[in-house]
Amino acid sequence: MNDSASWGAATRALRTGHQRTEQREHAEPIFTTSSYVFDSAAHAAECFANETGEHNIYSRFTNPTVSIFEQRLAALEGAERGVATSSGMAAILSVCLAFLEQGDEVVCSRSVFGSTVGLFSRLMSRYGITTHFVELNQISAWEAACNARTKLFFAETPSNPLCELVDLSALSQLARSRGVKLVVDNCFCTPALQQPLALGADIVVHSATKYLDGQGRMVGGAVVGSQEDMAAVFGVVRTAGPCMSPFNAWVFLKGLETLALRMKAHSENALNLALWLEQQPGVARVHYAGLPSHPQHALAQQQMRAFGGVLSFEMAGGREAAWRVIDATQMLSITANLGDAKTTITHPATTTHARVAPEARLAAGITDGLVRIAVGLEDLADLKADLSRGWIA
Ligand SMILES: *Cc1c(COP(=O)(O)O)cnc(C)c1O
Repeated sequence: MNDSASWGAATRALRTGHQRTEQREHAEPIFTTSSYVFDSAAHAAECFANETGEHNIYSRFTNPTVSIFEQRLAALEGAERGVATSSGMAAILSVCLAFLEQGDEVVCSRSVFGSTVGLFSRLMSRYGITTHFVELNQISAWEAACNARTKLFFAETPSNPLCELVDLSALSQLARSRGVKLVVDNCFCTPALQQPLALGADIVVHSATKYLDGQGRMVGGAVVGSQEDMAAVFGVVRTAGPCMSPFNAWVFLKGLETLALRMKAHSENALNLALWLEQQPGVARVHYAGLPSHPQHALAQQQMRAFGGVLSFEMAGGREAAWRVIDATQMLSITANLGDAKTTITHPATTTHARVAPEARLAAGITDGLVRIAVGLEDLADLKADLSRGWIA
């Protein structure tokens, strides 16, 4: 392995994990092989006896290209080890299968990704695992929901689409004092903007589909954490099979090379757009942690390096006004995807949160006038011009 321990983040993003083969290739190679050859029967027996993943046996277990991605992401998150998965949901499922058993409980923030809610409330519940959903930013609610059976805390910060935060240091202190593992979905920030492990979290999960790729090309995920915890997650992926393909790993590790630059640019565009939106006619409120008007702005400045690409705003005119803004755009992509270099716009109440009961949706702050934008890397002036059509119409 290279000497990545002393490297800065930019160098790690470019160089961690790649050991040149005898071909002396400059770019990382893609190993499209399902299995690996042994020197002898004894060598094969030795590799099979060693279950830690140090030797390549079969690409469901390990693959050299996937390993480079795992090492690079782990280095960026400040983790000992990473395990790549076929999607972000596969990463979360693998954590569940690694650490939960029948009778265990989970405390999860209410505002997590929709499929994460479904995984805990509809799927894990069938296997005797109970999940309590709490307000993300109320540490006392996490504490109240925690009991002797609680094994995991699961949080996503900032939340989607309202950009609420949880104080990760405070939550990890609570988790530690109760002997609970804190799992953080760091998809919105990426390690370029927020490092949950440094703030005391035990495990970070990612949907690589979003900013790690950054160009909306493919689906993938990852889990990072301590050697011990990742041995458990690796055991699940090795046995159950939600592994990442080498080609996807190669695209994601190329994405990591420019991650910090892209996140900085996404954040700059989003902040400028949020400031501009606050001045626009009919806009009642803008939700973005980088705005001085955000109720948790001070916390955001403490635990995030910049504030990411996702913002939302509320049209005073309700659903009709929100749809008018969305439909008036000519350049923005009307799609629920996020973490793409191209800006996307969506109406959460009738898309991503349509399956949530109306009262619960309103209680969570997802009003009919709410519009979410995942701000991309286009010129700010063009984004403003495209959105302005909605005010003029
Ligand atoms: C998209 C997303 C996921 C799920 O990832 P997939 O790669 O789609 O499986 C999980 N968490 C967050 C915050 C996401 O945005």
